[in-house]
Amino acid sequence: MSKPKIVVLGAGYAGMMTTKRLTQKLRPEEAELVLVNKHNYHYQTTWLHQVAAGTVNQNQARMMISDVINPNRVNLIYDEVVEVKKEENRVVLKNSEITYDYLVISLGFETNTFGIKGMEKNAFSITDIESSRMIREHIEYQFAKYSTAEKPNEDDLAILVGGGGFTGIEFVGELAEKVPELCKKYDIDRSKVRIINVEAAPRIMPGFDDELVAYAKRSLEDRGVEFREGAKINECKKNSFVIGDDNEEIKAGTIVWTGGVTGSSILSKSGFEITKGKVTVDGDMRAPGEENIFILGDCAWVMNEAEGKPFPPTAQAAMQHAETCSDNLKALLHHEPMKKFVFDDKGTVASLGETDAMGTVFNDNKLYGKPAVSMKKVVDNRYLFLLGGPKLILKKGKLRML
Ligand code: FAD
Repeated sequence: MSKPKIVVLGAGYAGMMTTKRLTQKLRPEEAELVLVNKHNYHYQTTWLHQVAAGTVNQNQARMMISDVINPNRVNLIYDEVVEVKKEENRVVLKNSEITYDYLVISLGFETNTFGIKGMEKNAFSITDIESSRMIREHIEYQFAKYSTAEKPNEDDLAILVGGGGFTGIEFVGELAEKVPELCKKYDIDRSKVRIINVEAAPRIMPGFDDELVAYAKRSLEDRGVEFREGAKINECKKNSFVIGDDNEEIKAGTIVWTGGVTGSSILSKSGFEITKGKVTVDGDMRAPGEENIFILGDCAWVMNEAEGKPFPPTAQAAMQHAETCSDNLKALLHHEPMKKFVFDDKGTVASLGETDAMGTVFNDNKLYGKPAVSMKKVVDNRYLFLLGGPKLILKKGKLRML
């Protein structure tokens, strides 16, 4: 009898950890494992703001999938998922197709511009290694252009960041570190460069603790970041945002949108029932009504029943989804009962550049400054450890200032 075939779509936090755990929990004769991903490398999405600012090299933020997932055990397919034909247990890829007995969809997020006029066309977004690398190169080009122009335009040096959520704030933190370095390199006075964060809500980082947000804002303002809070972006033009009731125009040479994400569009294309771009999964992480399809990470809405709203999409949650999913796949193969996903909130730390950070850990204990910076690195390195052991930490880890 042939082995059941488990296909995992997307090699991000959820897909990598699910695949890794399945290789540990199942014997080779128990199941055939397949991992499909767009690229032959895996990147840490949580480091992309650093790649975009140029404070972390893109190669440190990624690794070859075959270096951490044994290709003799898992069939690695590097191709783009186009659609899931769930009635036929089949996945259409750009260059081929594949059948499955069990499917794990962990295709991550896509940018959501909420229909803001011109945003999709005129702003960069931090979505993957390539889009992040383009931002870094564009910023550096603006500095080079300014330093060699006959009539330099200071607007070219301004960097506008739309969205003051977690990603937007971490990104301006990296920019605050990178800009002085670029000014030195291109012999430009730091005071000529503006980093402006625009947030529609009354304050940045909505939902985050007031004291922590006040700390972050002070730290970033001290390093030259400007905030425009309660400022709705009406339009994104080629080189500006138009904001607020009076349609004020703020010009910049670089515009980055970090204000919203949604689940992969493959979900709706494949006929899943969608809520705000994601699938509200059952307690065991399966799609409602689907016996053999699990949906994880940023593609899944997992309800926080105590608060009556979904948990926020995080790498921490994606990795925990992977644990439940791999246990439940094993349970299905062994005809045992499946377990319910329970989120274990270990806290959240936001970096404010290389030298500062803030957040909460274990039961809402607040951390600021150096201890928070170290904790952020411990979190990043812990993931590398879970994926590839100490060897991977030594190769790709953040070891400075630990
Ligand atoms: P991802 O990790 O994004 O992986 C999706 C994978 O699917 C990728 O490899 C992608 O290439 C692949 N893929 C996508 N479409 C296709 C396709 N059609 N075909 C084939 N492959 C495809 N969370 C935290 O917990 N802490 C943080 O500090 C934090 N910081 C963040 C900073 C930034 C800049 C960003 C953008 C996010 C941050 N997050 C953080 C959120 C976190 O990164 C996500 O919640 C997490 O990556 C979700 O994991 P995932 O496996 O669902 O998706």
